[in-house]
Order: sequence, then structure tokens, then C-alpha cells
Amino acid sequence: MRDIELYRAILGLQEPWMVMNNVELDMPGQQVVVTVDSGPGPFPCPICQTPALGYDRKLRRWRHLDTCQFTTIIQAEVPRVQCSTHGVKQLAIPWAKPGSRVTAPFEQLAIDLLRECAVKGAAKMLRISWAEAWGIKRRAVARGLARRRAEHRTLKQSGETRLTGTKYRWLMRQQEMTAEQHDAFRTLQRSDLKVARAWLLKEQFRQFWDYTYLGAAQKFFARWFWRATHSRLKPMTAVAKRLKCHLANVLTYLNHGITNAGLETVNSTIQWVKKMARGYRNVENFKTAISFHCGGLNLYPPQSW
Ligand SMILES: [Zn+2]
Repeated sequence: MRDIELYRAILGLQEPWMVMNNVELDMPGQQVVVTVDSGPGPFPCPICQTPALGYDRKLRRWRHLDTCQFTTIIQAEVPRVQCSTHGVKQLAIPWAKPGSRVTAPFEQLAIDLLRECAVKGAAKMLRISWAEAWGIKRRAVARGLARRRAEHRTLKQSGETRLTGTKYRWLMRQQEMTAEQHDAFRTLQRSDLKVARAWLLKEQFRQFWDYTYLGAAQKFFARWFWRATHSRLKPMTAVAKRLKCHLANVLTYLNHGITNAGLETVNSTIQWVKKMARGYRNVENFKTAISFHCGGLNLYPPQSW
């Protein structure tokens, strides 16, 4: 397979985008530059999708996932179109968000690394600056929060007000509720809302910490894991998979009779965030980090290619 065909396949580009005939390999610089082109047009206006004439082009570059050990750059002359309604607009690019200097798959890898390491460590592994790594973290949180608000808004628009004012109720233990709160909550719980299904899984998992026998705990976890990964709730699937990775450690806790580990998880993660950052310069950054690590947000860039 020739290099152009290889990159066409692995980048998964769709019409009108295609890999041009010049994939440049810079051996001393350990770098591959893949030039991508959109053809002559006309192109759809990014707002109304009406075909519009090209206005001008601007050369842009994005950092992509490495090709073996080589830093890989995608480069393209991105057209701007002149729409009769919306004026001059830049064509939407399927592999990166507007204004981003990295591709969506690179951003996803960065988010995974930032979840596991301090910003400095992740930046070093990704060969980007501290400020770039922090920017990815901040944008990921903004995206996750926007998605959460959108879900709430959609529910509200469809006349769904059941969730309004229940934010803290979901975090409460049932024993702490008044009889009235309890009744209202039972109704919510039985609903088909995503948050209700997630809450149920969280509540069911609470039982795990009461096990004292290893075998029984393992059996319980296997059943819970199946339910969580079949819940059609991406964040719950992610949590379940993460717990499974650490299952050996978690079971050790049970063996030593430390039963409130579940409640301690969020606290210890916050402490870990604090330690990793060795003191945040401002409260906003600290809040961003907590939302990033403990907010249960969907942080990934949208997958459009
Ligand atoms: Zn338009």
C-alpha cells in the first residue's frame, strides 16, 4: 500500500477531503506532514449548508497521533466560503473543532493521559507545552458542562421538569430523606430518565462495600459490571471499566475491612488532584481540575470522522 493510500485509510477522510500526493517524511526532524485538500468546491456554508463559492484559503496545521515514533502533522488550506446570507465563513473541518490546533483523536489521547498524570507529565509525554495541555483540559471541561446543560435544557423544553431542583437529592442517602422527599424521589427513580438509571446503578453499587467475603464480592461485581456496561450510559460504562481495572486493589480494601472506601473515593481523588498540581494558582483552575477528574462529564471531542 502506498503512503497516500495508507493515510487516506487511517485518517478516514470523507468527501470532499482527500490526501494529496505529498506525504513528507522529515527523518532528522522525526516528523511526517500529511497534506489534505478539499478540492475546488463549491462548499456548503457551515451554518445553513447552502452551497457557496470559495472566498479564500488559509494554510493551517494540526498535530495528529504519531505515526510510529514520528510526530504527525496534518496540513490543509482551509477554504472560507462566501454565503449570501451569512457572509464569509470558514468551512467546517471534520477532524478538529474550530480554533483547535490538534485533531480530535489527539485531543482524546491527551484527555486520557491528563486523567492519569499531572499536567506537566502528560505534556511531556505528548510533546506539547504545559499551556497547551492545560488548554485541552479546560476545553474538555467546558464541553462536558455544555453537554450536561444541553441535556437538562432538552428535558425542560420537552415539558420535562421532574429534574428541576433535585440536584442534591441524587447525592443524598435515602435514609436522610424526609417521607415526602422519599415518595417524590421514588417516582423519579422509576422513570426512564438517564440520571435515574445512573443513580440506580450508583445505589446498587453501595452494597458492594458491605461484602466481607472475596468470592461473594467478586460475584456481585461481575453482575453489577454487566448491568453498568449494558446501561447505554457511557459515563457509567466508563466508571465500571475503570473500577474493573482497579478491582484487585478494591478487593484488597474489602479484605482489610475498610468499608467506606466508596465515600472516600471522591475525596481522595480531590486530594490527588491537589497534590498533583502542588497548589493551584487560582480557584478557577482548581474547579476545572475537580470537574475534569470527578465531574463524571463526557469530556471527549465529538467523533465526526
Ligand atoms: Zn449560510
